Amino acid sequence: TAPTSNNFVAKIVEEDLASGKISQVVTRFPPEPNGYLHVGHAKSICLNFGLAQQFGGECYLRFDDTNPEKESQEYIDAIQDDVRWLGFQWKGDVRYSSDYFDTLYEYAVELIKAGKAYVCSLTPEQAEEYKGDFNRPGKASPYRERSVDENLDLFARMRAGEFADGEHVLRAKIDMSAGNMNLRDPILYRIRNVHHHQTGDKWCIYPTYDFTHGQSDAIEGVTHSVCTLEFEDHRPLYDWFIDNLPVPAKPRQYEFGRLNLNYTVTSKRKLKRLVDDGIVAGWDDPRMPTISGMRRRGFTPNSVRNFCQMIGVSRSDGLVDVAMLEHALRDDLNKNAPRAMAVLNPLKVVIENLPEEHLEQLSAEYHHELDLGAREMPFTREIYIDQDDFKEEYSKKFKKKFTPGKRIRLRHSYVIEAVDYDKDEQGQVTLVRAKLIENTLGQDPEDGDKPKGVVHWVSASHAVAAEVRWYERLFTSPAPDKGEGDFMDNVNTASLSVRSAMIEPALAAASNEQVYQFEREGYFVADRFDHSAEKPVFNLTIGLREDKSL
Ligand code: ATP
Ligand code: MG
Ligand code: MG
Repeated sequence: TAPTSNNFVAKIVEEDLASGKISQVVTRFPPEPNGYLHVGHAKSICLNFGLAQQFGGECYLRFDDTNPEKESQEYIDAIQDDVRWLGFQWKGDVRYSSDYFDTLYEYAVELIKAGKAYVCSLTPEQAEEYKGDFNRPGKASPYRERSVDENLDLFARMRAGEFADGEHVLRAKIDMSAGNMNLRDPILYRIRNVHHHQTGDKWCIYPTYDFTHGQSDAIEGVTHSVCTLEFEDHRPLYDWFIDNLPVPAKPRQYEFGRLNLNYTVTSKRKLKRLVDDGIVAGWDDPRMPTISGMRRRGFTPNSVRNFCQMIGVSRSDGLVDVAMLEHALRDDLNKNAPRAMAVLNPLKVVIENLPEEHLEQLSAEYHHELDLGAREMPFTREIYIDQDDFKEEYSKKFKKKFTPGKRIRLRHSYVIEAVDYDKDEQGQVTLVRAKLIENTLGQDPEDGDKPKGVVHWVSASHAVAAEVRWYERLFTSPAPDKGEGDFMDNVNTASLSVRSAMIEPALAAASNEQVYQFEREGYFVADRFDHSAEKPVFNLTIGLREDKSL
């Protein structure tokens, strides 16, 4: 079911439907396939697909593929996976801006014929100089008054591959003294003698983003073209093309504030450096703020969508505290994740009044509120508890726990009482001897000496050793890419530590990507790729409480 949003774009759509200006809302999510999607893109996905859902419209997934040298099929595939994983389905087949290259070429020819575009042969350096800046009006290019025939001829020859990269460009003839730099005769086409992942070697000239985006919107019948604020001063140009070309529809562009998160970088270019420099294991490393990284970390689609709903959509850029993302995650997992037991720092306990061969299959519910079923937990004479749950001496700070003569309840199991213990030369407790208190499964001890605490445990003979990957923040600084130095200087070099744990047998059988609450420890996910029943691997998703952050 579509969540209802009343952000400013939703209000505009609602009014346009009410006034009859449009009969159905059509949006698009237009990533450039030059990297993996990140959490910022999730905001745009939720907004664009969310508008379509909320108002019974449609949303396209369109690859904005006008810079073929930076793009690849790997990114195209990953982006589709990410959008689907977030729970959205685009209209029909995926689209590519390159699907419209023929039409865009015809549009360019139309502009030339109307005297509204010309082939310019300034070098890039000259063009820069002629363009002027905010304080200095631009100068007309000496090629600005080329005849229509000459322009048509040159443009056809650009297409035919007669020129080298950079020799000519096609520009719109708008206004070299416009205050808005985007209107100073913007480039429509440039020569790039490169192979394109979709169109192969058909083209050696490629349209610019500006000449492509709005016309693609119009061709698809997009009604509301929603993008981030940095495109605000491209809007006059967007409208100029729509007004000056024989496009089949009149889309409108609206801008919203992009998502910035502290302790995080949200730029594909910077994320690519982390991958290329080997700081992380790949785009989907669980420390990455990419959608596939978050997925591997144990984020659920629901938690990401809830986060996007929480932060809302506004007309200004803002900085969101990463704690909000963590809150959305923890909240979803707290409600929905099955509970199970894993002992991270095992200490063996021998329950001496049980026979060696004792094996009782206890049934343990996966969740205290939801009906997630139950698993069998083998209960045996030798078990592991966490080292922190036994102390040699009773103290105020440790009053709930286990010391000689004191009792604890084993979660989903019996009450036991510590008798004595062994230590090694370093003074570390290596073994605890205990006794089982009879008739305490689901009941208090008959002698009235109730245990003060409940601890998690696993059977020593049935537990499985698992690899556990502990993650910390990837950056030590709240604003890693702001300020003086290179953002790479703010990388946390200790963001991954690999440890082992003893997990209950049911956890070894976990399906990949299932997140569990390891009771009293935190949320952990069975790694999407590396986990198997034979070699279990879990990733720390997030700690149980706010003070235990990502
Ligand atoms: P990057 O700078 O990371 O490469 P981009 O804006 O160039 O991002 P695109 O692939 O062009 O990436 O983005 C597709 C859509 O996602 C665009 O409409 C863009 O505005 C939006 N988007 C990108 N980053 C964010 C962000 N941080 N917050 C909200 N929307 C974003
Ligand atoms: Mg872009
Ligand atoms: Mg970009």
